[in-house]
Amino acid sequence: MRRNTLLIDADDTLWENNVFFEKLIEDFITMVESCGFTRSYVRHILNETERKNIRQYGYGVRSFGRSLEETYLKLAEHMAKREVLAQVHTRVVDLERTPPKILDGVPETLAYLTERHRLILFTKGEPAEQAAKVERSGLQGFFEFIEIVSEKSTETYGELVRKHKIVKAHGWMIGNSPRSDINPAMQIGLNAVYIPHQHTWQLEHEPVVSGSGKLVILPAFRELRAHF
Ligand SMILES: [Mg+2]
Repeated sequence: MRRNTLLIDADDTLWENNVFFEKLIEDFITMVESCGFTRSYVRHILNETERKNIRQYGYGVRSFGRSLEETYLKLAEHMAKREVLAQVHTRVVDLERTPPKILDGVPETLAYLTERHRLILFTKGEPAEQAAKVERSGLQGFFEFIEIVSEKSTETYGELVRKHKIVKAHGWMIGNSPRSDINPAMQIGLNAVYIPHQHTWQLEHEPVVSGSGKLVILPAFRELRAHF
C-alpha cells in the first residue's frame, strides 16, 4: 500500500476525555438542581454558556470552569453560595490533573501505523493543556508532528495540508467528531475515518456530510490496521 498521511485526533480518539467532563457536569447539575431547575434546563444553560465562552476564550479546562461558574451564578442568583463555587473550582483543578486514559488498542495500532505511514497528531484546544496531555500520554513518539489549533475548520485543515505538503487523495483525517474531524476534512477533499465514541461531547454532534474523498466508519481504533 502507498504511504498515506494520517491526521489523527486525540481527545476521545486516542484517550478518554469527555467522559471526565460529563462526570463533573452530572455532579454539577446535582448541586444546582436544588435551585429549582430541571436537569435538562441546567444542561441547556451550560451548553449555551460554553458556546459563548469558547468563542471568547477557546476550548480547555479553564474555559469550561468559567462556564460552570457563570451557569451557577446565573441560575442561583441571590441564592449563590461561595462553598459551591469553591467545590466547583476544586473539581475543575482535579480534572486538569487527570492523566490521559489511553483507549483500548491505541499504542499497538499506532506502532503498526507509524511503520507504514506518516502520522500527524491534530488536536484542538488550549495549546499548553493539549501539549501536556500529549506528553503525559507517552504517545508523541509515534507522530512526526503534533499540531494544536484553536478550532478545526476548513481553514485550519487547508493550512495543515499546505504546511505538510499533503496530497489530499492520500491524506486521511481520523477522529470521533463529525463537526471537527470528519466534515471539515472531507469538505476540503481529504479522506476520513470516523470512529464514533459513545461519550462524544454534545457540542461536537453534527450529521456526517460526505465529500469527494472516501469515508470509512470503524467501531474501534484497532480496526485501522485492516485499512492501512
Ligand atoms: Mg476528539
